Amino acid sequence: MRLLISTSINFLSLTAKTILKNLSKLLLIAIVGFPLYVAAQDTGKDQIPLDHFYATPRHGSSFFRRALRNFHFGIYTGVGRSYLSTSMSGFGVYQSPGAPPQLFTNSTTTRYTDWVNNAGVDNSPPGSYVVANAGNNIRFKGHALNIPLAATLHYEYKQLRLGGGYSYELMSLGLFHPTTMADKISDMKVSSATGFVRRYWGMVGYSFYRWNDYLFTGDLQVGNYKMKNNYNTAQVTPSTYFNLGVTIERNLSEYLKVFVRPAYEFKSYSLAVSNSGSSLNYSNNMLMVSVGFTYSIPQLPKCVIKQCRAQVDHHHGNRDYRSRVHPFYKKQNPGYGENYPGLKKY
Ligand SMILES: [Zn+2]
Repeated sequence: MRLLISTSINFLSLTAKTILKNLSKLLLIAIVGFPLYVAAQDTGKDQIPLDHFYATPRHGSSFFRRALRNFHFGIYTGVGRSYLSTSMSGFGVYQSPGAPPQLFTNSTTTRYTDWVNNAGVDNSPPGSYVVANAGNNIRFKGHALNIPLAATLHYEYKQLRLGGGYSYELMSLGLFHPTTMADKISDMKVSSATGFVRRYWGMVGYSFYRWNDYLFTGDLQVGNYKMKNNYNTAQVTPSTYFNLGVTIERNLSEYLKVFVRPAYEFKSYSLAVSNSGSSLNYSNNMLMVSVGFTYSIPQLPKCVIKQCRAQVDHHHGNRDYRSRVHPFYKKQNPGYGENYPGLKKY
């Protein structure tokens, strides 16, 4: 019995580990199944007004269009600041006058000129100043500038959202400063400072507040990232990342929304220092504000009658259609349309 319990505990903890490891993949899988589950559900009353202007069309739309209506495609860019930091635990810092600080292990003859994104070896004769076994006494801190370009897809069901995304991000590393002994150790300048970060993620969010035209949604992204180009991918092992933010969005039209999203992100990476058997662990958190658009596929098909000039949702026979003259990016009142706000006689 005891054996059975301990076996099942082992099994559970293994399962938990696997789940944590694959969290971003699971989230992505969940968004595929979730819409199918909710598409058939009746839309009851929402706790907060998610759409306080546009009504949900009732007739003339197929099951697929009803499901599609809640899919939102997005693109965004933004600006971020990364906060990088590492302790020199297990290593020493080597400083010769007028040169950047180098990393060394147990001998001063194998030193590393680069130790942020690529542990490159320097075998030149040692110079004048060395801090052996720097340990936790010396930390280096640095910043980076991040500019992403991302594509997203999410599904909304009442206040809940599930989705994912993919992005490419410019990342430019600044100087790294020692937190102690700054009078003896100089700043570290990474020789190849600019590269790209590739990432994909799963997202879960919850809309919790509306203020006039603005809807507030708290969301969590969990994903995988990889630093490329200027980072040596054979030596760098990035962590899973967790990104917490608030999406503040506003309808431009029934289908098009603009949003801004401040967020904070927790992540890290380790740099394996070749020949040393150990690695430097960098925390690599980030503060980012992104701005973008989301677009959803209209629930009603476009009116099929070429000459029809109706500006609002309307019907022919027993089927509902949306206007064929109203541009998708323009706001319109569902009652009378706002395409031509002036009366025609003026
Ligand atoms: Zn029509």
